[in-house]
Amino acid sequence: ICPVEPGATVSDACASYGDLDTLNTRLNPALRELVTETDFFSYYRLNLYNKKCPFWSDDEGLCGNIACAVTTLENEEDIPEIWRAEELSRLEGPKAHHPGKKEQKELDRPLHGELGENVGESCVVEYDDECDERDYCVPEDESASAKGDYVSLLDNPERFTGYAGEGAHQIWEAIYRENCFSKPSANEQSQGAGSLAPPFAGFSGMQGQAAQDLKSVMKEHGRQLASQEGKFEDNMEFDDECLEKRVFYRVISGMHASISTHLCHDYLNQSTGKWGPNLECYKQRLHTHPERISNLYFNYALMARAAGKLKDYVQDYTFCTGDPKQDRRTKDMALKVANIIPAGPEIFDESVMFRENPLGDTGISLKEDFRNRFRNVSRIMDCVGCDKCRLWGKLQTAGYGTALKILFEFNDEQPAPALRRIEVVAFFNTLDKVSHAIKALSEFQGMLADEKGFP
Ligand code: FAD
Repeated sequence: ICPVEPGATVSDACASYGDLDTLNTRLNPALRELVTETDFFSYYRLNLYNKKCPFWSDDEGLCGNIACAVTTLENEEDIPEIWRAEELSRLEGPKAHHPGKKEQKELDRPLHGELGENVGESCVVEYDDECDERDYCVPEDESASAKGDYVSLLDNPERFTGYAGEGAHQIWEAIYRENCFSKPSANEQSQGAGSLAPPFAGFSGMQGQAAQDLKSVMKEHGRQLASQEGKFEDNMEFDDECLEKRVFYRVISGMHASISTHLCHDYLNQSTGKWGPNLECYKQRLHTHPERISNLYFNYALMARAAGKLKDYVQDYTFCTGDPKQDRRTKDMALKVANIIPAGPEIFDESVMFRENPLGDTGISLKEDFRNRFRNVSRIMDCVGCDKCRLWGKLQTAGYGTALKILFEFNDEQPAPALRRIEVVAFFNTLDKVSHAIKALSEFQGMLADEKGFP
């Protein structure tokens, strides 16, 4: 009944499915508490409506369903005082000036999201929305001047919206196309029908392309043709591809599987008007595709490893809601989450990635390429034609981007990059999403057993 063997190890991760399920029984309640009971983690500020899709005209594929709509917070009174635009502008004064990126690089200790010594007690870290060189996604700008909206994540749960068809497929196709390391990226293919225009200058592209073997290119080409005909093939083989490319694909596919699980688990039965799990949806999208389930578990291992690595950072982090009691409580809850996870690489070992590989790619160029491609995935999210899907798509790419930053940029060799408030919020909420998806899978498996009459 179970599409994956509990004792089997999740490939590319170090833990078994059973280990991760066991971890999740402890982690899930702690995460739920963190993201549902604290202001810090339940409000997210993002530019949901004013960013144009940088790749194609986004007039088509818009979702008109009411379920696609997002309720934003119109009234500033509903937002904790410290985050209101007025407060944020106040923080731009010299006292609350946050050390800029240049200054940060000169500091010889990690910044840990605080404001520095002579800066007063305020703790909102503001940035412009330019990428830091160590970012894996295009950051949302949380500053007062940005055209953003506060959204209560609790009021806008990720669930079935009815967004489907050409528009949704075009997005998934563009996202998976970023995985084509063996070919020029979508952004380099500026000409030709169906190709995407370069949204930004300076994309480095893949280096070491000369080392590509023909087999890999042919296979990729076949997959692209299949997807152009509307036939996606997600059961890709990677025997001739390096670990990093496989990891990139698995992160995307695992995120896709998590979204599918959520929409199947909180589905609208249009004849009764009731929301609830839809077993047929689970069977079609997940149960019959064990590799998607495997990729979801892979993401869980990756996210959990990043959370475990964040323990010291969380300890020093200033959670700011303007209420010290609430800040203390928020920190305790975040620490509780991080402390449940083993501190070492028992479940996922990122240190094996970005080493020189037999295909001739150097670790550094591969990492740069990986990072650029992941940033592009975050840009594609602005093309999603359903507001609620765009909200969760943007949040989750920011969450995975933050996890990748924690895994690959937090090391003993250099000061850890400071995380923006929205990165921290996106990261823990994304971990909560994957954790909830894993829990939902076992509910579906129970329903399937009942249907088949198993004890
Ligand atoms: P899709 O899920 O659209 O998949 C397209 C193709 O990709 C499939 O035919 C399959 O071959 C391949 N594929 C599917 N799953 C995987 C996987 N895990 N790994 C690899 N390949 C795979 N809808 C909602 O109801 N609620 C939401 O919150 C929501 N959020 C979304 C967020 C984003 C960013 C996007 C792009 C779409 C979102 N959607 C959401 C739409 C939803 O994901 C589907 O696109 C839609 O339900 C149509 O599903 P489908 O069965 O046609 O296949």
